Amino acid sequence: MGKPGVLVGNLGKADATPSVEVRGICPACSSAEASLLFSATDRLYATTDKIFQIVECRQCRLIRLHPQPRPGELRDYYPPAYWFVPGTTVADRLEQWFRRLVLRDHLRFVERALNESEAPGMVLDVGCGDGLFLEMLAERGRPNIAGLDFSLDAATAAWTRAGVPVVCGTLSRAPFAPGSCAAVTMFHVLQHLYQPAGYLDAARQLLAPEGRLIVQVPNVACWQFLLLGEHWNGIDVPRHLIDFRLADLEALLDNCGFEVLRRKHFSQRDNPAGMASSLAPRLDPMARRLLHAAETTGARLWKDAIFLALAAASLPFTWLEAACRAGSTVMVEARKKS
Ligand SMILES: [Zn+2]
Repeated sequence: MGKPGVLVGNLGKADATPSVEVRGICPACSSAEASLLFSATDRLYATTDKIFQIVECRQCRLIRLHPQPRPGELRDYYPPAYWFVPGTTVADRLEQWFRRLVLRDHLRFVERALNESEAPGMVLDVGCGDGLFLEMLAERGRPNIAGLDFSLDAATAAWTRAGVPVVCGTLSRAPFAPGSCAAVTMFHVLQHLYQPAGYLDAARQLLAPEGRLIVQVPNVACWQFLLLGEHWNGIDVPRHLIDFRLADLEALLDNCGFEVLRRKHFSQRDNPAGMASSLAPRLDPMARRLLHAAETTGARLWKDAIFLALAAASLPFTWLEAACRAGSTVMVEARKKS
């Protein structure tokens, strides 16, 4: 046992990287011992040049950001206009058409869960972002849907776009009755939270007895992370506080009273585009928008086309890693344990 609170070793190469003191404890097992995997900064959106460490718990192997930014500091790492209502230019309309096309995958996964569970109640999308998922769900005739996001910009954009109730706040204080939800969805939410168990406990309270929890997170046990390391965009320093493997997610869900019914290792929205962003972060459409790249419409369309081609070229690899259960994201359907 090493000294509590001290980071020990470096993937078995302790001589290569000096030990650094870890002030936090593992959110999964409370161990204070961790190994340094690598150091990195905000590669995608350049909100800071501060260097963070990615460390792995010595006890349960959960990978996390260290040090954890304070809440006020973390807010600065979400650039202004992170969430927005799309414009009406040709490039905007093409981007929206593409985003809708690839999001159908998520809709099918959730609709199957709703159909099979037959639970009554609301569908609540936690971390609803700009509300595209809510809008598409409403268009497909699903009644009784709502969103929640801790960003006021996101909640406003989602409400404007989808025309459904959207709450700005945290799930643990959401104004919904216990047992009122047929499904709670959390796409790319848990890795942004200091205490993901708090959100899962709140979701468990809100779900009807046969209700379904749908969770999607980046999966650090993917081939892309093995190959690209700190350049894999699923790490997303410093916005991702925890980097889950599927096994970590399943252990967390189990501890919070859920059993996993279904797992999906390929996301047509996330896996190929994520690989393209990892390989060419300056071509990522969201990064270009947030970095205020001065682009003519023609230049924007060309860069979008090159990014799309890169994502298409990533398809065979991302399909293969997902087929081997090592996809760069994982989506699960879970229900409350009886
Ligand atoms: Zn741990």
